[in-house]
Amino acid sequence: MASKAKKYVYSFGGGKADGNESMKNLLGGKGANLAEMAGHKDLKLPVPPGFTLTTEVCTYFYDNKKNYPKTLEKEVETALAKVEKLMGRKFGDAESPLLVSVRSGARKSMPGMMETVLNVGTTEKTIPGLIKQAGGNARFVYDAYRRLIMMYSDVVMEKAAGIEPADDMGIRKQLERIMDKMKKEKGYSSDTDLKTEDLKTLCSQFKAKIKEVLGKEFPDEPRKQLWGGIGAVFSSWNGKRAISYRRIEGIPDEWGTAVNVQTMVFGNLGNDSATGVAFSRNPGNGENGFYGEYLINAQGEDVVAGIRTPSPINQYSQSEHNKGLTTLEQGMPVIYKELVGFRNRLEKHYRDMQDIEFTIEKGRLFMLQCRVGKRNGPAAVRMAVDMAKEKLCTKAEAVMRVTPAQLDELLHPVINPKAEMASKVLAKGLPAGPGGANGQIVFTAHDAVEWKKQNKKVILVREETNPEDVEGMRAAEAILTARGGMTSHAALVARGWGKCCIVGCGNLHVDLAKKEITVSGQVLKEGDWITLNGTKGNVYAGKLEMMDASSENKLLNDFLSMCNTFRKLGIRTNADTPADAQNARQFGAEGIGLFRTEHMFYGKGSDAPLFILRKMIVSKTVEERQKALDELFPYVKKDIKATIAAMDGYPVVIRLLDPPLHEFVPREQAKLEQLAKDLNISMEELSKRAEGLHESNPMMGHRGVRLGVTYPEVSAMQIRAILESAAELLKEGQKPYPEIMIPVVCDKKELEDQLAIARKIYADVLSKYGLKQIKHLFGTMIEIPRAALVADKLAEVAAFFSFGTNDLTQMSFGFSRDDIGGFVPDYIKKGILQDDPFQTVDQTGVGELIKIGIERGRKTNKNLEVGICGEHGGDPRSVEFCHKVGMNYVSCSPFRVPIANLAAAQAALKDKVSKKK
Ligand code: PEP
Ligand code: MG
Repeated sequence: MASKAKKYVYSFGGGKADGNESMKNLLGGKGANLAEMAGHKDLKLPVPPGFTLTTEVCTYFYDNKKNYPKTLEKEVETALAKVEKLMGRKFGDAESPLLVSVRSGARKSMPGMMETVLNVGTTEKTIPGLIKQAGGNARFVYDAYRRLIMMYSDVVMEKAAGIEPADDMGIRKQLERIMDKMKKEKGYSSDTDLKTEDLKTLCSQFKAKIKEVLGKEFPDEPRKQLWGGIGAVFSSWNGKRAISYRRIEGIPDEWGTAVNVQTMVFGNLGNDSATGVAFSRNPGNGENGFYGEYLINAQGEDVVAGIRTPSPINQYSQSEHNKGLTTLEQGMPVIYKELVGFRNRLEKHYRDMQDIEFTIEKGRLFMLQCRVGKRNGPAAVRMAVDMAKEKLCTKAEAVMRVTPAQLDELLHPVINPKAEMASKVLAKGLPAGPGGANGQIVFTAHDAVEWKKQNKKVILVREETNPEDVEGMRAAEAILTARGGMTSHAALVARGWGKCCIVGCGNLHVDLAKKEITVSGQVLKEGDWITLNGTKGNVYAGKLEMMDASSENKLLNDFLSMCNTFRKLGIRTNADTPADAQNARQFGAEGIGLFRTEHMFYGKGSDAPLFILRKMIVSKTVEERQKALDELFPYVKKDIKATIAAMDGYPVVIRLLDPPLHEFVPREQAKLEQLAKDLNISMEELSKRAEGLHESNPMMGHRGVRLGVTYPEVSAMQIRAILESAAELLKEGQKPYPEIMIPVVCDKKELEDQLAIARKIYADVLSKYGLKQIKHLFGTMIEIPRAALVADKLAEVAAFFSFGTNDLTQMSFGFSRDDIGGFVPDYIKKGILQDDPFQTVDQTGVGELIKIGIERGRKTNKNLEVGICGEHGGDPRSVEFCHKVGMNYVSCSPFRVPIANLAAAQAALKDKVSKKK
C-alpha cells in the first residue's frame, strides 16, 4: 500500500482549521493558536483565513540546501485557493486581489527575533483592484506598496540573501533617506503628510534604488513575492539575533520555525480602523484587569515597534503617560464590548492569561493572534494564586506555571523606600518591568556587554530598543527607553526576563553621538549612576540604596503554601547565625541542613572567640589546647543554642569544625605578637608552630574529621556545646533537635572514633542536667567519592547522610572548587561540559555516586535520613534530581528556600504525570 504523503501545509479560517492547539511542535505557537481560535467549537473567532507551513518544512529547508519538499508548492496552491474562496478574492488578481502577510512562528515565542513580510501580493497590476477594495483610498494602497517594497528589499533581498552592508548603507536605511529627503523638500513633518502622488513617486524611486544597490529588480509578481517571503522567514531562524535569543533562552536550534501565511486585514484604512495588543490580565502585576493598547489608523507593527505612543483600550489601562488619550471603550464602544467577549472566551478556553493581537478594519474586529502571555515574576505568582482560587486552573497547574526564575524576581531588591522618598523624580516612564535597579549609564548594547565583563553594573539607556540590542539588554541591570509602549519589544523582552525596565520615558532626550541624556534641564553622561523604580516607572539621578522586601510578601506566602501541598522533599537552609536562621524560617525553611561552625569565627576581626580559636590552633600540648577550648566553649555554645532555639522544634544539623586550621592563623604582625604574648611563647616559637600547620594541598589535608581524630578534645568541646544547648533548651520547655554531623569522612572507623566521643559526652550531659534523653542524631557528610562507595558501612554508624556536593564535585572531577574560573568557562564554550558542575549537579558522574550512596546506605539502615547541603540544594534542576533519587530534604541558602520549595513541588508534580503515563 502506498504510504500517505506527509502533510506540510495546514489551513485555518472560516470557522474551520486542519490543526489545533496541541500541534505546537509542528505548527509553532502562533500557527497552533490561529488554528485553535479559528476552528475550536468554543471559540470560532474571526481570524483572517490563512495557512501554516510546518516546522518540518524548516528542518527540510536546512537539511536540503534551502530547497523545499517536492509536494510543498502544490499544497501551498491548494491552501491559497481555499483562502481565496473564503475571501472572495484572488491572489494576484487585477479586479479583486488578495493580500497576505508572511510571518514566523516558532514553538516558543521569540518576540521580534525573526522576520515578517506584510502586504505580499501588492503589485502595479493589483493596485487598481486594491484601490477599489479600499473604497477609492489610493493613498492607503500606495502606502502599503511603499511599505512592502521597503520591507521586502530589506528582509528578502538583502538579509535573507546574506548581504551584510556597512551600518548606514543597508537598503532600508537608503530608502528611508530617500523618503526623508522628499519630506524635507516638501516641508512635511510626518509620514502621514505624504500624498498619493508622493508615495507613487517614492515607489518608483525605491525600485530604481533597489536595482542600483542590490543589482536586482524588486519582484512585481505576487507568487515571487510570496515564495521570497517564505524563504526569508525560514532563513531568519538562523539570523544573528534569533540565534542569540535561542542561546539565552535555551531554545534548541533543531526546533525550527513555522511560517504563517494569512490574509491581510488593515488597521490603517482610516479612523474607523485600528490595531492593538492586549493582555487578558495585567502582565505587569497580575491583576485581573483587561490591559491593552491600540492605535487608530495604524498597522500592527506600529504598536509593537514602539514608534508612536499608543492609547489605552480602557480606563484600567490608563497611565500617567497616556491618560489624555481616548480609550477604545470610549471611541468604539460596540467593538470594545465584542473584544471583551473574546477576551473572556479565550481566557476560559485556555485557562491562562492570553496575549491578544487584534485589528479593526473599517469597523470590523479581527483576531490576529493569541498566545499565553509573557508575564513578570510578581504577575506570574499573583495570577497563579488568583486563577487557582477562581478555579480557572487547578492548584497543580498554577504551581507548574511559575518558573523558579520568576519566583526569584519576588526576592529581588527594590529601592529603599526611605531613600526613594528623599529623592526627586528625574523622569517618569511606563513601568514595564518591576523591581529596582541602579547602575551606570551606557548607550549601546555593545557597551553594556563590555562594561558588564568588567564587573560594572550598567543601565542601558536607548531612544528605543530594537531586537539587535538583546545581548546588551541581557547584560544590563535595567533598561530605560525614551520611546515605546508597554508592549514594545523592550518591554516584552525585559518582562520575560524579569528585568527592571522603564519605557516611553518621553521627556528624556537621548543624544547617542554625545553619549549623554538631557532630562528636565539636567545632563547625564555615560558612566553616571542612575536608579530606576520599574514598578512605578520612576527614574532617579544617582545611586539610591536598595533593599529586599520579599519577606513581607503575602502573595508569596500564599503561593508557597500551595507548593507545600505538593512537594515530597523537605526544605532546610544553610545558616551560620541565629539571624540567618530566623530569616530562613520566614521563608519557610523546615530546619537547618548545615550550620558551619567555623563560620562563627569569620569576619569577627580580633573578637575574643577568634582570638581564642587561634590560641587553640597554635597550641602545642593537650593542656594548652584544652585551656583554649575551655575558654572558647561558652562562645560556641551561645551561638549554637540561639540557632537551635530559632528553629524551635525543627532539626538543626551542626557540622563539627571542617576547614584547614592554618586558615585561621593571623598574618598581621601585631596580631601574631599578641598571640605569642598570651600563650607566653616567643615569636620565634609561634612562627615555627604556624609554619608547622602549613600544607601543600590543604583541601585534602588536615581538615574535617581528621582534626577530630588527631584532637579528640576539639570534637568533644563542640559536641558538648551542642548537647548542653539542647539540654538547656529542653529544660526551658523548647523542643531542640540537633543533628551532629561529621565532615570529610571516608571510612566507617573514622565515624566510630567520633561516635565514641559523642557517646561519652552524651552520658555526661544527661547526668549533669538530670535528663533521661536528648533527641538528637549522629551522622556524616558524604563528600568524598569513597564515602559514597562505602555508604553501606557508614550507614551502620550514621543515622543520617548529608551530601556535600561542593566537595563531592571537586573530588569527583578533580577540579579545585576555588580555581574553576580558569577553565570551566572554556569547557562550557567548547561543549565539553553542558553546565558548571558546581552549580548544577553533574547527574552523569557525581549524580551516580549520590545514587550509589543512597542505595547502599539505605541497604544497611532503612531509616537513614538523606539530604544535600552543597550549593546545589538551591538549584532547581538539582532539586529535581534530589527528588528523583529519593532524598528526604534539600538545604540551601535562606534566599533560595522559596525557589527550592517551588522546584521540589514541580519535581513531585512532574513525577506524578510521568508515572501516570
Ligand atoms: C560541601 O562540600 O558540599 C559542603 C557543604 O561543605 P563546604 O562547602 O563547607 O566544604
Ligand atoms: Mg565540604
